Amino acid sequence: MSEKIQAVRGMNDILPDQAHWWERFEDTVRDWLHAYGYRNIRMPVLERTDLFVRSIGEVTDIVEKEMYTFTDIGGDSLTLRPEATAGLLRAAISNGMLRGARLKLWTAGPMFRHEKPQKGRYRQFHQIGAEVLGFGGPEVDAELIAMAHALWQNLGLKDIRLELNSLGQPEERAAHRAALIAHLEQHLDVLDEEAKRRLHSNPLRILDTKNPAMQPVVETAPKLIDFLGEASLAHFNAVRSVLDAAGLPYEVNPRLVRGMDYYNLTVFEWVTTRLGSQGTVCGGGRYDGLIEQLGGKPNPAVGWGLGMERLLLLLEEVGQLPGPAQPDAFAVVFPGVPLPTVMVALEALRAQGVSVVLNPAGKEGPASPKSQFKKADASGARFALVFGPDEVARGEVAIKPLRDGGEQQIRPLVDIAHWAVSLLQR
Ligand code: ATP
Ligand code: MG
Repeated sequence: MSEKIQAVRGMNDILPDQAHWWERFEDTVRDWLHAYGYRNIRMPVLERTDLFVRSIGEVTDIVEKEMYTFTDIGGDSLTLRPEATAGLLRAAISNGMLRGARLKLWTAGPMFRHEKPQKGRYRQFHQIGAEVLGFGGPEVDAELIAMAHALWQNLGLKDIRLELNSLGQPEERAAHRAALIAHLEQHLDVLDEEAKRRLHSNPLRILDTKNPAMQPVVETAPKLIDFLGEASLAHFNAVRSVLDAAGLPYEVNPRLVRGMDYYNLTVFEWVTTRLGSQGTVCGGGRYDGLIEQLGGKPNPAVGWGLGMERLLLLLEEVGQLPGPAQPDAFAVVFPGVPLPTVMVALEALRAQGVSVVLNPAGKEGPASPKSQFKKADASGARFALVFGPDEVARGEVAIKPLRDGGEQQIRPLVDIAHWAVSLLQR
């Protein structure tokens, strides 16, 4: 036997039992996004490296140490996307979608970051992103936040709290930056190497550190919110008042800065205490300067991304994962029964939206009726459709309830689609 090939570390297979949860989750999320008028967009997972460097920022964890970057055979530097916003804007700009348009878009798919794999933190993970392009008003920020809250409720999740902050505008950040550097310089002894390196290039990033030893310095640092001008404060207060009016609780966290450089004004994270230090299930904010920075006409924008693995872990924690997928019916075919007759009958059922599994073959030749009945039971199907030679010769099939009790009935094969309809109405 040859040696087994290993999967890439931090990249998971999603096996059928789990994939079923993913599908249900995706169904819920898709319906919910459509209810708010969001339209789907799908971008390539590979982009030019430059896109991420310019948008996320050169001095960030993602760009400095987490990107899967390589040179392709043609000599271009490409990167597996670590997040979706940059690519989505690139797509909107390069396809001319932004000309005077206001867009509500959602996207989903795998993202790639070379992080230390652990529960809730992987190297390939999946996000759903919602982005609103062309609206500058605070009510849009609030709607995006309230929307996420509605999703938690749809999913039966209660323990997710909202943290909110405002990063103001670039000029306000510049004033804060000077004060921040002065503060950090007084604590050089506690700063780790990375923080020292970032002290003058991107001190705001130091506030996003996960190093526990630096938390006291971070906690006593000058707060960006104290440097906001009137317009920024008004925006922040307007977001807050919509949330207040909706009775949606939140906590202002002045140290919340997010991991990318492109944010301004509103930033937020939805956090749970149930997943340890991988507690952020959704994060987002406004990025009014990014479209222009990527070569588009200036246009405000706001959005969030949610981590699917973390939400599924949380659903599992609170026992809200759906049960296994079960077909409506399972066909049991006796030896000698012509398979084409069976298959025609099953197609008639499927055309009515009834799910039917046919599994007449074993490893070596036809499976015995006994083993097919076993499989039918194990599948969780409501009914076994028993195709016995005598019934089929008479143009009939036996329908045996497997879960709900009740008598076996005999039905004409030609009538089976009618039976299917009545089955779905029950
Ligand atoms: P964290 O602080 O936990 O590293 P982040 O701020 O880097 O998260 P974002 O870039 O805001 O995360 O991505 C949005 C969401 O994607 C996160 O809130 C999280 O749910 C999820 N996410 C981010 N990185 C990973 C990862 N490596 N594995 C699994 N999910 C992730
Ligand atoms: Mg991160």
